[in-house]
Amino acid sequence: MTARILVVDDILPNVKLLEAKLTSEYYEVVTAMSGEEALEKARDTNPDLILLDIMMPGMDGFEVCTRLKADPAVAHIPVVMVTALTDTEDRVRGLQCGADDFLSKPVNDTALMARVRSLVRLKMAIDEWRARETTATQLGVIQENANLINEDIGVANVLLVEDMDFELNKIKATIEEQGHKIDIVPTGMDAVKKTSTDAYDLLIISLNLENDDGVRLCSHLRSNEKTRNTPILMIGGEEDLPQIARGLEIGAHDYIVRPIDRNELIARLNTQIRRKKFQERLRSSYEVSLSMALTDTLTGLYNRRYFEVHLQKLLQNNNESEKTLGVIYTDIDHFKNVNDTYGHNVGDEVLKIFSKRISDNIRSFDLVARLGGEEFVVVLPDTDEKTAHVIAERLRRSIMDEPFVTSHPEPLTITTSIGGVVIGAGEHTITEILERADAQLYLAKNGGRNTAFFEGTGKIDGSQFDLSSSNERLAFEE
Ligand code: GH3
Ligand code: MG
Ligand code: MG
Repeated sequence: MTARILVVDDILPNVKLLEAKLTSEYYEVVTAMSGEEALEKARDTNPDLILLDIMMPGMDGFEVCTRLKADPAVAHIPVVMVTALTDTEDRVRGLQCGADDFLSKPVNDTALMARVRSLVRLKMAIDEWRARETTATQLGVIQENANLINEDIGVANVLLVEDMDFELNKIKATIEEQGHKIDIVPTGMDAVKKTSTDAYDLLIISLNLENDDGVRLCSHLRSNEKTRNTPILMIGGEEDLPQIARGLEIGAHDYIVRPIDRNELIARLNTQIRRKKFQERLRSSYEVSLSMALTDTLTGLYNRRYFEVHLQKLLQNNNESEKTLGVIYTDIDHFKNVNDTYGHNVGDEVLKIFSKRISDNIRSFDLVARLGGEEFVVVLPDTDEKTAHVIAERLRRSIMDEPFVTSHPEPLTITTSIGGVVIGAGEHTITEILERADAQLYLAKNGGRNTAFFEGTGKIDGSQFDLSSSNERLAFEE
């Protein structure tokens, strides 16, 4: 894993020491020797992690951290405070400034690497979602810029795996005071069972269970589909540091050393929950923006962008097979009159009902997209001429036969004109196909509207089809 780490310390030997340790683990190191320089380098070099000394003349580490976390350009970069102080008050103050973790001087190698690895991994996961979100934004969906520090924690579900009464009561009280919900189980097996049915925002695992190996439990939960993305907070004694380091290596997110300090527990708990909720929101906003980028908001149908990609793929398949592909263009007749007479809102309602009727009258593997305005296209894969004609006629009648019920008191009679082509093997472009279908649509409009025209056939005489007969119906029942 290559990552860039910014090391901030006012004492040169300290900088050199950390630089040497990190470089030997193949990290790229950038250094700064004052708070001001740190802020500048954080912006200019875009590090994946910042190791920040607390005690510096002028601007101290707390202030640097506060400023970093207030700057949207760098707020997402994890900060580990490096301190000679073991005072928990300082740790808590650092966490309140938005620091992601602590290392004490002299820096223990295992702890350093475990922390760095764990936070770099988190940063990369978040970067990935941010990148996807940016892509979705470029596809035309505007997104507010998400920021971890502002993430609302809300009420979280916590699972505690602990079998020591004294500890579990203390943890329970602390978590409940924070307004979170907690379930407690005494063994690894119970934890596995519980997580298979219930969803948790945080798993707290004791490394001192009577009959279980806490690290193995962490490993199991990390590889389990349901808990893969759930943060794990380990609890152990000073003597458990090697296990803690192993736990962090296999993917646990954080740890607390006994005796548990209440404030530290609260800060670490909330940090993990906040990170998890933030990642979830990035993921879901990505999914929403993706679907918004591919669908039309008014009708819920696919948009032109999706249609083009989809048709391109079908054309490739079609080129290699004997089968033919139908493309139907449909455009509502005199739609401008609907808007002019009943208003734009009723026009919108008509578009929605129209879309639903079309969707309801095609097969599940056909595709309908709104190309814009009151123009729609239906793609019929693996469809011969006769079937395409039947489907077009069916669509035309589904619009004409039943008046549209909107917020206007009177039901409206709506009709549509249809132009279609059936494409055989060979090289075709989307533009060419749409132009050919559009030419047929033009004929349908000129031919009096409320009709379907097909290339090579001309006007479709609907009377030749009995759409209720089983033969013709087959076209709609795949
Ligand atoms: P034709 O039978 O020749 O197709 O006539 P038309 O009136 O349907 O066609 P024209 O292209 O002249 O008008 C289309 C109208 O569709 C004009 C436009 O204001 C309206 N329109 C386009 N998009 C929307 C929309 O999202 N909502 C509403 N209510 N109207 C729309
Ligand atoms: Mg029209
Ligand atoms: Mg039009």
